[in-house]
Amino acid sequence: MFTIKCKTGDWEVVVGLETHIEVLSKSKIFSGASADYNPTVAPNTQVSMVDAAMPGMLPVLNEYCVEQAIKFGLGINAEIAKKSRFARKQYFYPDLPQGYQITQATSEPAVVNHGWIEIIGDDGNPKKILIERAHLEQDAAKNKHDMHPSKSFVDLNRSGVMLLEIVTALDVKNPENNSFITSPDEAEKYLRQIREIARALGVSKANMEEGSMRADVNVSVRPVGAKYFNERCEIKNMVSFKFIKTAIEYEAKRQIEILENGGTIDRCTMRFNQGDGTTTVERSKEDALDYRYFPDPDLLPLVIDPERIERIRRTMPELPAATRARYIEKLGLAEYDAARLTETVDISHWFDAAVADKTERAKGVANWMISELFAHPENYDITNKKSGIVDGMRIITPTDLAELVDMVAANEINGKQAKDIFIKMLDGADGTPHAIADKFGMKQITDTSAIEKIVDEVIAANAPQVEQYKSGKTGLLGFFVGNVMKASAGKANPGVVNEILKKKLG
Ligand code: MN
Repeated sequence: MFTIKCKTGDWEVVVGLETHIEVLSKSKIFSGASADYNPTVAPNTQVSMVDAAMPGMLPVLNEYCVEQAIKFGLGINAEIAKKSRFARKQYFYPDLPQGYQITQATSEPAVVNHGWIEIIGDDGNPKKILIERAHLEQDAAKNKHDMHPSKSFVDLNRSGVMLLEIVTALDVKNPENNSFITSPDEAEKYLRQIREIARALGVSKANMEEGSMRADVNVSVRPVGAKYFNERCEIKNMVSFKFIKTAIEYEAKRQIEILENGGTIDRCTMRFNQGDGTTTVERSKEDALDYRYFPDPDLLPLVIDPERIERIRRTMPELPAATRARYIEKLGLAEYDAARLTETVDISHWFDAAVADKTERAKGVANWMISELFAHPENYDITNKKSGIVDGMRIITPTDLAELVDMVAANEINGKQAKDIFIKMLDGADGTPHAIADKFGMKQITDTSAIEKIVDEVIAANAPQVEQYKSGKTGLLGFFVGNVMKASAGKANPGVVNEILKKKLG
C-alpha cells in the first residue's frame, strides 16, 4: 500500500482520472472535415463551416464516432446507454469558435456508463478500478503563440475532432469499496491499460507524447483507514506517465501539510511545473453551474439500438487482459511471460502466429521471444510483414522460430545447436533453420550405439575418475557428460548421454 508518513501519522492518496483520448475516425464528430490534423497539414485547411462556427451551420453526428465509443464501452465492461444527450458547455476562449463545447453533461448519463477495468494493485493482487462514464465531446482548436512577436494565431484543424473522456468513479456511498486508484503506480497501470484497450480496438492511438491521450488528475488525501473523502485538487492536461506520478506525489504532500497544520483544502485547478516537479494553484475551480450546461438544441438525443450494440460486440477482438488469461490458463505460460507477450497487440499476434495452435510449442516460443528475440529488435518485424533478408539483416519470422522450437522438441538438435542456428540467423544466414542445420552439419546424435561408442571411449580414458565415481563421488557425472559432449563436437543428445553414462558407470 502506498502511504505517506507525516507528523500526525500515515496518509493515503485518492486519485481520480479524467482521461481524454482522441478517437480515430476519418472525419470529425459533427462535420465532414478530415480529422487527421497531424503537424504536416497546413493550418486551417481542414475546417468545415461547422468547425468554424459559421452562423446557421448545423452539426451532424458522425455515426462511426458513435461506433468507436460503443466499442470502447464494451472494452471496459460498461453499459451503453440506449439514450443519451449532447449538451453545450459554455466558456470563452479563442480556440473555441462556437463559444461552447458540445459534450455530454455530467448530470446525465453519458453514452458509456458504469464500466471497470482490472489492474494489478500495489499489493500484487488484481484490483478493479471503477469507471463512472465515458462521454463523447469535441476537441478545441489550437492557439499558436510562437509564430509572431506580437500576434497569436488560431489553427482550427483540430476543432471538432472527436474525444472520448473517460472518468473514474468513487463509490462515495460505499467507502468499503476500494475500487479506485490509491497510488502513483496504480495511476500509471490504469492509464497503460486504457491505452492498451483503445489501441487493441483501433479506437485511438492513445499516444501521450503526440497528445492523443491526456489526463486530468484529481488528487485528495485522507488518513489511512478513514472512511470519507477530502476535497480534491485537479492537475490539468498531463501528457506523461512520469510527470503524472511526480505530480500526484507532490500534490498529496502539499495537501497533507495544509491539513496537518489545521488548514482546509480548497477545490482548485493546479498547474504542474515540469522543471522542479511541483504543483501550484492556477485558479479556484469553476463550478459546473458556471458553464451553464444545457441540452444542445441542434442535436437530437443519441439513441442506440441494442441490436447495434450486439452487432458491434460480435466484431470485438480479444482484448489484452483476455489474451493474458488465455496464455496463462490454456498455454501454461508464467504470469510474467504472459504480460511481456501482451504488451502490444502486435507482439501477441506474432507469438500467436508462431504457436499456431500447437499448444506444446508455446513455452518454447515464449522463452525464445523473451530471452533472445527481444534483444535483437532489428532482426524481426513485429508486424510480421517482412521476411528473408531486408537491408542486409536477416528477418526472423514466427515460422522460423516455430521450426527451431520444434527441432529441439523432436530431438533433431539440442539446445546448444539451436542457439548456434539462431546466432547464424542473426549473422545473416539465409534459409530455414532446417536448411542452416543441414548446411553446417548440426544434426544431433541420438543414435544410441554411436553415443555408446563415445561413452566407452571416455570411460576408458578416465579410469581414475571412474574409480572415484564408483566409490560414491556421483557429482563427477557432469565431468563425464562434458567429455562426451566435447568428443561428439556438441552434437550428442545430452539426455541420451546422461542415460547411457549412468547405466555404464553403474
Ligand atoms: Mn473533457
